[in-house]
Amino acid sequence: MRASEATTYYFNKAADQLELPDWVRKLLVTNKREVTVQVAFERDNGRSETVLGYRVQHDNARGPMKGGLRYHPAVDLDEVRALAALMTWKTAVVELPYGGAKGGIGIDPKTLSKREMERMPRAFVDQLHEIVGPDSDIPAPDMGTNHEVMAWFRNQWEKYHGFNPAVITGKPVEEYGARGREEATGRGVGTVAVKMMKRLNIRPDQCRTAIQGFGNVGSHAGKYLHEAAFPIVAVSDLSGTYFNAKGLNIPELFSYVIKNKGTLEGYSGAEQLPAEDLLGLDVDLLIPAALGDVITKENADRIRAKSIIEAANGPIDPEADEILAARNITILPDILANAGGVTVSYFEWVQNRQHYRWSLDRVRQELDRTLSDAFEQVWQESSTRNVSLRTAAFMLAINRVQRASELAGWLI
Ligand code: NAD
Repeated sequence: MRASEATTYYFNKAADQLELPDWVRKLLVTNKREVTVQVAFERDNGRSETVLGYRVQHDNARGPMKGGLRYHPAVDLDEVRALAALMTWKTAVVELPYGGAKGGIGIDPKTLSKREMERMPRAFVDQLHEIVGPDSDIPAPDMGTNHEVMAWFRNQWEKYHGFNPAVITGKPVEEYGARGREEATGRGVGTVAVKMMKRLNIRPDQCRTAIQGFGNVGSHAGKYLHEAAFPIVAVSDLSGTYFNAKGLNIPELFSYVIKNKGTLEGYSGAEQLPAEDLLGLDVDLLIPAALGDVITKENADRIRAKSIIEAANGPIDPEADEILAARNITILPDILANAGGVTVSYFEWVQNRQHYRWSLDRVRQELDRTLSDAFEQVWQESSTRNVSLRTAAFMLAINRVQRASELAGWLI
């Protein structure tokens, strides 16, 4: 199933519960604007190269649109559309005053020198600076882009419109970025995991946890949960699965991966299994934090975890979601579980607009509160309506966007 089909599937499931008529669904799923632009930039050898860039703006009923900018060779309009809509539901479920958007450039960043990495966002901004801005559409880093790309984007946009760092988030901390942005998504995953296990009556020190992916999200989620006394029995990355039935030494793994250029390869403090074994481990909590579509109908039967928290975007496809639901495996969906990143992006935008800086403690406090409140609302909705946590999250999000659209006079 394509990414956009999965988003539409989950949307429709929730819309059925809400008994939304077709004309309302049409307004809520149709993108406000889709732009494809030519991104022509100079290669270091002096030749110009032309690739395609996309920005899809899905919905702005609740506020300016917000969403990442990715560099990836497989980026196409369909993927960007699906991700833009997901951002609308994600910002609505955690009640940030935003809509959803997404952008991408179809190129492999590994083929670019640093200078070429810089010329790309500048060429992109030249094409669409008029449709992005602090009150309309605010990009952020995503796959293949980073804080430096955000700084170049901002610099180019300001050449047209003047000083305004709130045009983009995920900037370097010393250049109007927010403290705590790097850890935010993983910390948010940890926050909702603690709350969910409490609801499921599993004590933290008895919650055997496995994390797929030990990059930005997986490592910070692991660190948070280790500090909350969860035994993390396995973590994996492309190099393999690292296992210890009594719980891994997460602080050691965290430092190891930093020193070892982002990979766990060569770590000798645990038993090593093939990377794909992680998904089949008998654990209380499984956290896929690597890629999309890793749990499908082909391998859903192998899952032995009692609960799953979707730290990655779309790790479980809709067919697998049905299979796991029938086995009573509790799944906390991505639109809530990984919303910590966009939440701290929102805090960055707020600070930029106030010309003020928050302490790391304040960022953490506000993040924990935002995600805890959202978790409780989704849990309540799921219990009251007797639907899955995913459907409950979509229902709350759709209700909020629908109400804002009514108040704007778009739904009469
Ligand atoms: P990352 O590149 O820092 O880390 C990805 C990790 O997954 C790496 O450890 C990599 O080795 C591992 N991996 C890749 N393929 C694997 C495989 N087949 N088996 C096991 N491990 C594998 O990426 P990240 O920023 O941590 O993002 C992870 C996921 O979370 C992505 O789906 C991303 O879209 C999503 N996400 C990230 C953020 C954020 O703020 N970084 C926010 C929301 C969602």
